[in-house]
Amino acid sequence: MFSVRRRGLQLAIAVSLLALLGIAYARRTDADLPEKFRKRPYSVMSLSVGSPADGWQLRAKRLRPNQHLVIKSNSRKAVYGHPALVLMLQRTARQMSREARGAVLVVGDLSSKFGGPLPGHRSHQSGRDADVGFFVLDKHDRPKRLDRFIAFDADGNAKDGSKVRFDDYRNWLMVQMWLQDKRAEVKYVFVASHLRRRLLDFARARPAFRKYLERAEQLLRQPSNSAAHDDHFHVRIACPKRHEGLCLEHGWVND
Ligand SMILES: [Zn+2]
Repeated sequence: MFSVRRRGLQLAIAVSLLALLGIAYARRTDADLPEKFRKRPYSVMSLSVGSPADGWQLRAKRLRPNQHLVIKSNSRKAVYGHPALVLMLQRTARQMSREARGAVLVVGDLSSKFGGPLPGHRSHQSGRDADVGFFVLDKHDRPKRLDRFIAFDADGNAKDGSKVRFDDYRNWLMVQMWLQDKRAEVKYVFVASHLRRRLLDFARARPAFRKYLERAEQLLRQPSNSAAHDDHFHVRIACPKRHEGLCLEHGWVND
C-alpha cells in the first residue's frame, strides 16, 4: 500500500515537473520569429504564428468574463487569443444578450498565453480557435443558463439525462452572427453533423433565415479527424490581417 502511494507521489512530481517545463517552453518572444517579423509594425502587433495545429502566439489578448459571457471553470488558463477572436467573442456575447433576452455566452478553451500544444486539443495553438457552448432550453422551453458544455443527440435532447434541449433558435442566431461578422472573418464553425443538420433544417424552414443558409452550409463543418463536436461549437477565425508569411490557414484539424 505504502509503495503504491509513493509511486503515485513520484508520478505526481514527474507530471508537475513536465508541466513546468511545458510552461517554460511555451514562453515565446520576438526572437523566435522569422527576422522580417521582429521589427515594426510586427513588433507591436499581436501575432498568430503558424497553423492552429502547429503554431503559437505573441502578445495575445486575454478574454475576460462579463455579465454576458462566462468562462468555463476548467478553461481559465486557456483564455488567450488574437484580439480579432477575443473581440469577436465579446461582440457575439453582447449581441446575443440584446437579441435573445439575457442570453449568456459560455466559452471554453481558446489558447494558452503563448499558444503551442494545449492539453485535450490538437488545434487551439495559435490564438484563432475558441470553444463555445450551446444555448439550451429547460423542459418548459425556457432559455436556461449553463456554465458547462452538454452533449445533444439528433433530436436535440441532452445526452446526460438532464432533460435540457438544444435551443435551435438561439444557436442558429449565433451562427448567423458569426457569418455576418465583418471585423473578424470566421473561417469555420465545427459542430457534429447531426447538429449541423438540425440547424440548417431550422433555418431552411424560416424565410427570414433562409438567405443565410448557403453561407452557413460552408461555415458549419463536422470535423473529419477528431471527436464529433456534439457538446460545443468550435469557432475558428481566418488568419488576421497583415499576417502573410507568418500565419498558416491550412488544415481542418480541430477539437
Ligand atoms: Zn475546440
